Amino acid sequence: MKIHPLRIGRTKVPFGQFYGGLSGFSVSEFAEDKGHFIWVPIHAYLLEHPTAGPVLVDAGISPEQTAHVDYYRGSIVEHVMDVDEYDLPSGQTVPAQLARLGYRPEDIRAVIITHLHEDHVGALNLFAHAPVYLGAAEYAAREEKVFGLIPLAYPPSIAKITDWRPISFTGPAIGGFTGSADLFGDGSVLALPTPGHSPGSTSVLVDHRFLLTGDAMYTIRHLAVDQVRSIQAGDEGQYVESVRRIQWLRREFPELVVLTAHDHTGYGERLIAGLAGGELSDVDLAWAKSYERATFDELANLNPARLPRFVPAGDGGPVGHAA
Ligand SMILES: [Zn+2]
Repeated sequence: MKIHPLRIGRTKVPFGQFYGGLSGFSVSEFAEDKGHFIWVPIHAYLLEHPTAGPVLVDAGISPEQTAHVDYYRGSIVEHVMDVDEYDLPSGQTVPAQLARLGYRPEDIRAVIITHLHEDHVGALNLFAHAPVYLGAAEYAAREEKVFGLIPLAYPPSIAKITDWRPISFTGPAIGGFTGSADLFGDGSVLALPTPGHSPGSTSVLVDHRFLLTGDAMYTIRHLAVDQVRSIQAGDEGQYVESVRRIQWLRREFPELVVLTAHDHTGYGERLIAGLAGGELSDVDLAWAKSYERATFDELANLNPARLPRFVPAGDGGPVGHAA
């Protein structure tokens, strides 16, 4: 089936949130470090399933969220997140990105949410007509507080959804995963449990060719979980275990392409561009595999030359980039 990346703006994050998990970057630094930001893209994906119809994976952010103080007023989120954390050009809203492919929000027949964080459910209320699939553990934890402060699911972002479909992973084992869920009954869209980043983070395996990880991995380099880790609001042990299961899946399916929600690296950008027509060419697939061979050894350890580092802005400002 065709798989279309949807570019839903971008978000500004501390470098340490993405890459500081093994160097002691703490949750308080996450709130306080205002000097080492990077911009990363936000991606959702549209699957054109032959019988289930157009299916959305994640719902990005909405214009309302970019008016940050208004949207989050009265919530602790107002104080924890930065005022200019989100940037959403008008051509990159969820409706605009769907329109580019000939769809209106009401055409979407099902939504799969990798997890309930704000940058993955921002436009979810546009899909109140559709069933919304998510990991059962994520659904169960929807009212829990991240860092003891922020509700996992900010209520206004999900208020209109009535048809929740919590996923139980009772299907066959695959790769390192002891269970799976065949969402549409034909084996083409398998949900896999990748908890840790959040209680019920879920990845989506499409045609055994593409793994949509949500934030179970932020970038391809996070595959090297012993060298590169994000900081965890959730369970670090589960996070590491989930990445190891993804490593195993890659070994079982050598052609597998891992697509995250926020891969700002050249790898992510090229694959997203390559999928502009909904399919990945043999040339792009070969390029991806050669990039991976140059980046990882067979045990998914990272080539030290590709360890991420923060590059400050030329003007000395707070937003640099990650090399
Ligand atoms: Zn995210």
